Amino acid sequence: MSRLSIGIVGLPNVGKSTVFHALTAVAVPTENYPFCTIDPNVGTVEVPDDRLQRLGELAPRERRVPAVVEFVDIAGLVEGASRGEGLGNQFLENIRGVDAIAHVVRFFEDPSVARVGDGVVGAANPMRDREVVDLELALADLEAIARALDRTVRKARSGDTDAAAVAGVLDRLRQCLDAGQPACAEELSTEEARSIRFLNLLTLKPVMYVANVSEEQLAPQVSVVEDFRTALQAAHPQAVVVEICARLEADLLTLDPVERAEYQAALGLAEGGLIRMIRAGYHLLELHTFFTIGDEEVRAWTVRAGARAPEAAGRVHSDFQRGFIRAETIHFSEFERIGSLRQARELGRIRSEGKDYVVRDGDILFFRAAG
Ligand code: GDP
Repeated sequence: MSRLSIGIVGLPNVGKSTVFHALTAVAVPTENYPFCTIDPNVGTVEVPDDRLQRLGELAPRERRVPAVVEFVDIAGLVEGASRGEGLGNQFLENIRGVDAIAHVVRFFEDPSVARVGDGVVGAANPMRDREVVDLELALADLEAIARALDRTVRKARSGDTDAAAVAGVLDRLRQCLDAGQPACAEELSTEEARSIRFLNLLTLKPVMYVANVSEEQLAPQVSVVEDFRTALQAAHPQAVVVEICARLEADLLTLDPVERAEYQAALGLAEGGLIRMIRAGYHLLELHTFFTIGDEEVRAWTVRAGARAPEAAGRVHSDFQRGFIRAETIHFSEFERIGSLRQARELGRIRSEGKDYVVRDGDILFFRAAG
């Protein structure tokens, strides 16, 4: 089963580790997830979903297992990384491996925590910090594109028409990056996107900016993040911004759940920052959730939006994908209305779908596969 992961990046001292440790403190017990990576830099977190809870009530089983996403702490970015500064290229390679990026930007002011980035001491400068990091990612992409362009142009000259088409796409991406836009700003057809997937471009990955604010800045009436959002619209229209106070999140974790909820309510926060970050990550990855009801567990799983039934089967077990015959399915909302599997069967509401069926968010699936 391939894992979907979100890499946490940002300049030093912006709060990445604090965010990561808070996330891993809410991490799932790994015994339910034999595929989990055992790595101190990887935290596997549950995706909150009320439907699983409800499903567990209607179809009681020993266990309820939520869907998960992974967060990866990618330390080591400094200005000049694309030229090999700091951990340089190794750092950039680590980002290539993730599916989406959570870019932490420092908003909090704290003279005891040095700002690292542009050599300028003083007040937080989130826009400038963001530019430093995004520039490194863009430079790394430009270098990868230049190398690939060299090869494909040579192939194109020897009459390879596919290579000529790829070279055309690469050239457009180069111009886009040269103009200061991330590669995702260039509109590519599905075919074109597929043709350059091998490059794993960093600025093609979906991004959320995590604005790490202080507790005072978190108050709803003080929005220090608005200007940042506005400025970002021009540079990165698809980007998502999530506001979080990393230090507060870390402190909240030392409280028991009841105290935590009370404290959060007193601060006027409906939902913890970590939960918002997990949800945003989930949307960023364009995932759909489907459910399975087994003898021992009800479970939520993730697939990319648009995935067909055999791919969903493969998330559960590669044998199910290989031997896929059909999927029996009912949507969660209908199942909830009917109230039990037996009734749903009696009413003939469980449909049989074949290999071309596109899984919907909220489908309950039973796979039939050849052994
Ligand atoms: P990283 O280098 O990006 O991983 O940053 P860290 O998470 O190690 O944080 C650097 C320093 O900033 C630590 O001393 C943190 O305690 C501090 N820090 C992180 N978040 C906040 C915050 O929201 N407010 C304040 N005042 N300090 C913070």
